[in-house]
Amino acid sequence: MATDSTASNIANELAGDIHSGLLRPGDMFPSERSLCGRFGVGRSIVRDGMTILHGMGLADHAKGMRPRVAVPKLSRVMLGASDAAQYFFKDNEGRAHLQQARLFLETSMVQYAVQNASNAQIAKMVGAVEECDANLDNIAGFRNADVKFHRALAEVPGNPIFVALHETFVDRLMKRAPIEDNLLAHNQISNEGHKEIISAILAKDSGAAVRSLTEHLVRNYETFLHRSLINKILKT
Ligand SMILES: [Zn+2]
Repeated sequence: MATDSTASNIANELAGDIHSGLLRPGDMFPSERSLCGRFGVGRSIVRDGMTILHGMGLADHAKGMRPRVAVPKLSRVMLGASDAAQYFFKDNEGRAHLQQARLFLETSMVQYAVQNASNAQIAKMVGAVEECDANLDNIAGFRNADVKFHRALAEVPGNPIFVALHETFVDRLMKRAPIEDNLLAHNQISNEGHKEIISAILAKDSGAAVRSLTEHLVRNYETFLHRSLINKILKT
Protein backbone atom coordinates (compact mmCIF):
# COMPACT_ATOMS: atom_id res chain seq x y z
CA MET A 1 0.00 0.00 0.00
CA ALA A 2 1.24 3.50 -0.77
CA THR A 3 2.39 5.64 2.14
CA ASP A 4 -0.33 8.24 1.53
CA SER A 5 -3.20 5.82 1.60
CA THR A 6 -1.86 4.23 4.76
CA ALA A 7 -1.63 7.62 6.48
CA SER A 8 -5.16 8.57 5.37
CA ASN A 9 -6.37 5.18 6.48
CA ILE A 10 -4.95 5.82 9.96
CA ALA A 11 -6.65 9.25 9.98
CA ASN A 12 -9.97 7.71 8.93
CA GLU A 13 -9.75 4.96 11.53
CA LEU A 14 -9.04 7.48 14.30
CA ALA A 15 -11.80 9.79 13.03
CA GLY A 16 -14.09 6.75 13.25
CA ASP A 17 -13.03 6.28 16.89
CA ILE A 18 -14.04 9.90 17.54
CA HIS A 19 -17.38 9.63 15.76
CA SER A 20 -18.20 6.43 17.62
CA GLY A 21 -17.39 8.09 20.95
CA LEU A 22 -14.44 5.81 21.71
CA LEU A 23 -12.30 8.95 21.75
CA ARG A 24 -13.93 12.08 23.12
CA PRO A 25 -13.05 15.76 22.77
CA GLY A 26 -10.11 16.55 25.05
CA ASP A 27 -8.90 12.93 25.23
CA MET A 28 -5.28 12.24 24.41
CA PHE A 29 -4.77 10.15 21.29
CA PRO A 30 -2.98 6.83 21.88
CA SER A 31 0.83 7.12 21.88
CA GLU A 32 2.75 6.97 18.61
CA ARG A 33 4.18 3.71 19.75
CA SER A 34 0.82 2.07 20.28
CA LEU A 35 -0.49 3.47 16.97
CA CYS A 36 2.56 2.01 15.20
CA GLY A 37 1.65 -1.34 16.74
CA ARG A 38 -2.05 -1.06 15.90
CA PHE A 39 -1.48 -0.19 12.24
CA GLY A 40 1.76 -2.09 11.71
CA VAL A 41 3.60 0.98 10.37
CA GLY A 42 6.52 3.23 11.35
CA ARG A 43 6.38 6.50 13.27
CA SER A 44 6.63 8.73 10.21
CA ILE A 45 3.43 7.27 8.73
CA VAL A 46 1.62 7.60 12.06
CA ARG A 47 2.73 11.27 12.17
CA ASP A 48 1.44 11.77 8.60
CA GLY A 49 -1.88 10.31 9.73
CA MET A 50 -2.02 12.72 12.67
CA THR A 51 -1.26 15.63 10.31
CA ILE A 52 -4.26 14.65 8.20
CA LEU A 53 -6.44 14.47 11.34
CA HIS A 54 -5.19 17.90 12.31
CA GLY A 55 -6.25 19.16 8.88
CA MET A 56 -9.69 17.68 9.50
CA GLY A 57 -9.91 19.76 12.69
CA LEU A 58 -10.03 16.66 14.86
CA ALA A 59 -6.58 16.87 16.51
CA ASP A 60 -4.94 19.62 18.57
CA HIS A 61 -1.17 19.84 18.78
CA ALA A 62 0.43 21.59 21.72
CA LYS A 63 4.20 21.72 21.43
CA GLY A 64 5.89 18.73 23.03
CA MET A 65 2.58 17.20 24.12
CA ARG A 66 0.71 14.20 22.82
CA PRO A 67 -2.08 15.37 20.47
CA ARG A 68 -5.57 15.58 21.88
CA VAL A 69 -8.98 15.11 20.26
CA ALA A 70 -10.26 18.54 19.22
CA VAL A 71 -13.79 19.82 18.83
CA PRO A 72 -14.12 20.44 15.08
CA LYS A 73 -14.47 24.06 14.03
CA LEU A 74 -18.07 25.22 13.89
CA SER A 75 -17.73 26.11 10.23
CA ARG A 76 -16.93 22.47 9.48
CA VAL A 77 -19.89 21.20 11.47
CA MET A 78 -22.21 23.64 9.75
CA LEU A 79 -21.11 22.88 6.20
CA GLY A 80 -23.76 20.78 4.59
CA ALA A 81 -25.41 20.12 7.94
CA SER A 82 -28.81 21.13 6.71
CA ASP A 83 -28.82 18.68 3.78
CA ALA A 84 -27.20 15.92 5.77
CA ALA A 85 -29.79 16.33 8.49
CA GLN A 86 -32.55 15.07 6.22
CA TYR A 87 -30.68 11.85 5.72
CA PHE A 88 -29.52 11.49 9.31
CA PHE A 89 -32.99 11.76 10.76
CA LYS A 90 -33.96 8.44 9.26
CA ASP A 91 -32.84 5.97 11.91
CA ASN A 92 -31.50 5.66 15.44
CA GLU A 93 -27.92 5.41 14.25
CA GLY A 94 -28.34 8.67 12.34
CA ARG A 95 -29.90 10.27 15.38
CA ALA A 96 -26.93 9.16 17.46
CA HIS A 97 -24.60 10.87 14.98
CA LEU A 98 -26.70 14.02 15.05
CA GLN A 99 -26.68 14.02 18.82
CA GLN A 100 -22.92 13.86 18.75
CA ALA A 101 -22.70 16.74 16.28
CA ARG A 102 -25.06 18.66 18.51
CA LEU A 103 -22.88 17.88 21.52
CA PHE A 104 -19.82 19.35 19.79
CA LEU A 105 -21.75 22.46 18.79
CA GLU A 106 -23.55 23.12 22.06
CA THR A 107 -20.36 22.53 24.05
CA SER A 108 -18.83 25.47 22.23
CA MET A 109 -21.94 27.57 22.77
CA VAL A 110 -22.18 26.92 26.49
CA GLN A 111 -18.53 27.94 26.89
CA TYR A 112 -19.33 31.13 25.04
CA ALA A 113 -22.39 31.67 27.22
CA VAL A 114 -20.30 31.37 30.41
CA GLN A 115 -18.19 34.30 29.22
CA ASN A 116 -20.79 36.40 27.43
CA ALA A 117 -24.42 35.66 28.30
CA SER A 118 -26.32 38.78 29.36
CA ASN A 119 -28.77 38.76 32.26
CA ALA A 120 -31.64 38.97 29.78
CA GLN A 121 -30.34 35.92 27.91
CA ILE A 122 -29.95 33.95 31.14
CA ALA A 123 -33.45 35.04 32.16
CA LYS A 124 -34.75 33.56 28.90
CA MET A 125 -33.14 30.22 29.79
CA VAL A 126 -34.67 30.40 33.28
CA GLY A 127 -38.08 31.07 31.70
CA ALA A 128 -37.73 27.93 29.55
CA VAL A 129 -36.75 25.88 32.62
CA GLU A 130 -39.86 27.10 34.48
CA GLU A 131 -41.96 26.15 31.46
CA CYS A 132 -40.34 22.70 31.49
CA ASP A 133 -41.22 22.33 35.19
CA ALA A 134 -44.84 23.22 34.44
CA ASN A 135 -44.99 20.56 31.68
CA LEU A 136 -43.17 17.60 33.23
CA ASP A 137 -45.95 15.14 32.36
CA ASN A 138 -46.91 16.74 29.04
CA ILE A 139 -44.70 15.45 26.25
CA ALA A 140 -45.44 18.15 23.66
CA GLY A 141 -45.33 20.99 26.21
CA PHE A 142 -42.08 19.76 27.73
CA ARG A 143 -40.37 19.30 24.39
CA ASN A 144 -41.44 22.76 23.30
CA ALA A 145 -39.96 24.31 26.43
CA ASP A 146 -36.85 22.10 26.14
CA VAL A 147 -36.33 23.36 22.57
CA LYS A 148 -36.72 26.95 23.87
CA PHE A 149 -33.97 26.37 26.45
CA HIS A 150 -31.49 25.11 23.85
CA ARG A 151 -32.53 27.80 21.41
CA ALA A 152 -31.85 30.47 24.07
CA LEU A 153 -28.33 29.02 24.34
CA ALA A 154 -27.94 29.15 20.54
CA GLU A 155 -29.03 32.81 20.56
CA VAL A 156 -26.31 34.00 22.97
CA PRO A 157 -23.57 34.63 20.37
CA GLY A 158 -26.02 36.72 18.30
CA ASN A 159 -25.00 34.77 15.21
CA PRO A 160 -27.98 33.88 12.99
CA ILE A 161 -26.21 30.80 11.67
CA PHE A 162 -26.37 29.13 15.09
CA VAL A 163 -30.06 29.84 15.41
CA ALA A 164 -30.64 28.51 11.88
CA LEU A 165 -28.68 25.38 12.71
CA HIS A 166 -30.73 24.90 15.84
CA GLU A 167 -33.91 25.21 13.83
CA THR A 168 -32.59 22.98 11.05
CA PHE A 169 -31.83 19.97 13.09
CA VAL A 170 -31.90 20.29 16.85
CA ASP A 171 -35.51 21.41 16.91
CA ARG A 172 -36.63 18.52 14.71
CA LEU A 173 -34.36 16.03 16.43
CA MET A 174 -35.85 16.90 19.82
CA LYS A 175 -39.46 16.96 18.71
CA ARG A 176 -39.23 13.64 16.88
CA ALA A 177 -37.33 11.76 19.58
CA PRO A 178 -38.93 8.50 20.70
CA ILE A 179 -41.08 8.93 23.80
CA GLU A 180 -39.42 7.61 26.94
CA ASP A 181 -41.07 4.90 29.02
CA ASN A 182 -40.86 6.81 32.27
CA LEU A 183 -41.74 10.25 30.99
CA LEU A 184 -42.09 12.13 34.27
CA ALA A 185 -38.82 10.87 35.77
CA HIS A 186 -37.03 11.34 32.47
CA ASN A 187 -38.22 14.93 32.15
CA GLN A 188 -37.40 15.72 35.78
CA ILE A 189 -33.80 14.55 35.36
CA SER A 190 -33.61 16.38 32.05
CA ASN A 191 -34.74 19.67 33.60
CA GLU A 192 -32.36 19.23 36.54
CA GLY A 193 -29.67 19.18 33.84
CA HIS A 194 -30.91 22.53 32.50
CA LYS A 195 -30.76 24.00 36.02
CA GLU A 196 -27.19 22.76 36.50
CA ILE A 197 -26.19 24.36 33.20
CA ILE A 198 -27.69 27.71 34.24
CA SER A 199 -26.02 27.54 37.68
CA ALA A 200 -22.67 26.92 36.00
CA ILE A 201 -23.21 29.85 33.61
CA LEU A 202 -24.10 32.11 36.56
CA ALA A 203 -21.01 30.91 38.44
CA LYS A 204 -18.93 31.53 35.29
CA ASP A 205 -17.64 27.97 35.65
CA SER A 206 -16.87 26.85 32.12
CA GLY A 207 -15.76 23.34 33.11
CA ALA A 208 -18.94 22.68 35.10
CA ALA A 209 -21.08 24.10 32.28
CA VAL A 210 -19.51 21.78 29.70
CA ARG A 211 -19.78 18.80 32.07
CA SER A 212 -23.46 19.43 32.83
CA LEU A 213 -24.35 20.00 29.18
CA THR A 214 -22.43 16.90 28.08
CA GLU A 215 -24.18 14.76 30.69
CA HIS A 216 -27.53 16.23 29.64
CA LEU A 217 -27.02 15.52 25.94
CA VAL A 218 -25.14 12.23 26.23
CA ARG A 219 -28.13 10.65 27.97
CA ASN A 220 -30.11 11.02 24.73
CA TYR A 221 -27.18 10.09 22.57
CA GLU A 222 -26.75 6.84 24.47
CA THR A 223 -30.45 6.08 24.28
CA PHE A 224 -30.34 6.31 20.47
CA LEU A 225 -27.12 4.38 20.26
CA HIS A 226 -28.51 1.55 22.40
CA ARG A 227 -31.70 1.42 20.31
CA SER A 228 -29.66 1.33 17.14
CA LEU A 229 -27.56 -1.55 18.47
CA ILE A 230 -30.62 -3.45 19.68
CA ASN A 231 -32.23 -3.06 16.24
CA LYS A 232 -29.10 -4.42 14.61
CA ILE A 233 -29.08 -7.44 16.89
CA LEU A 234 -32.76 -8.14 16.22
CA LYS A 235 -32.22 -7.92 12.46
CA THR A 236 -29.46 -10.55 12.43
ZN1 LIG B 1 -32.58 19.87 27.21
